[in-house]
Amino acid sequence: MNIRSITAPNPGPFTLDGTRTYLLGETAVIDPGPAIDSHVQAIAAAMPRLQTILVTHRHADHAPAALPLRERTGARILAPRGVLDSADLRLGGGESIAVEETAVEVLPTPGHTDEHVCYLTAEGDLFTGDTVLGAGTTAIFPPDGNMGRYIDSLRLLRGRSPRRIFPGHGPVREDATALLDAYIAHRLDRERQILASLQTGAKSIPQLRRAIYTDLDPRLEGAAEIQLAAHLVKLCDEGRAGEGGGVYRLTGGSGGRH
Ligand SMILES: [Zn+2]
Repeated sequence: MNIRSITAPNPGPFTLDGTRTYLLGETAVIDPGPAIDSHVQAIAAAMPRLQTILVTHRHADHAPAALPLRERTGARILAPRGVLDSADLRLGGGESIAVEETAVEVLPTPGHTDEHVCYLTAEGDLFTGDTVLGAGTTAIFPPDGNMGRYIDSLRLLRGRSPRRIFPGHGPVREDATALLDAYIAHRLDRERQILASLQTGAKSIPQLRRAIYTDLDPRLEGAAEIQLAAHLVKLCDEGRAGEGGGVYRLTGGSGGRH
């Protein structure tokens, strides 16, 4: 299937050069993006036969353009629960959607947000929304973001051995399985660093941040601390760490669900 993309004019620290809206053949789009007029117009002009609008998750840089695009084209909106009240069909994962001659499978990938889904074509092209980006790593913001479920979702995607990754932000990646391996390794490395830092005396999130992110742009300190918090939620859930009044400690649990 022919895949094209249009990048929305919403660059930023979390969106890289902007949200990538993917055009599948002549009839489907994935992640219509932010409701910016020029972007909606560009999609509608490129897809005069649009029938199906697929959405990965509810964030404002991915979903809202679905509504004006439906209005313009009459296409139906397929979205996970909690995304766009007026969606025409709810997706929970496991569905297969026909896009012209190709089957597109819906994969449940909670973690970045709880309702997040990815889309995998029969040819092995994987559309990852914010679960995997084309550059850098994605942000997990608890409580909606969940690091344990996120790592499980990365493993689910790796298990499907995709051929290419089409991320919500950043370039298409031809090294799909290596990228997923690197994403999983990055999170597990960070988890090991947190456990080691707790072992050697760090007790609070700012102390962990200073121990682990030794050369960090001060503007990213807040985001780094949130990522540490996401890991700590996972470690506490697994019984490997404990917390009281913002003070963390190792609990000696051999834990881990894998
Ligand atoms: Zn997002």
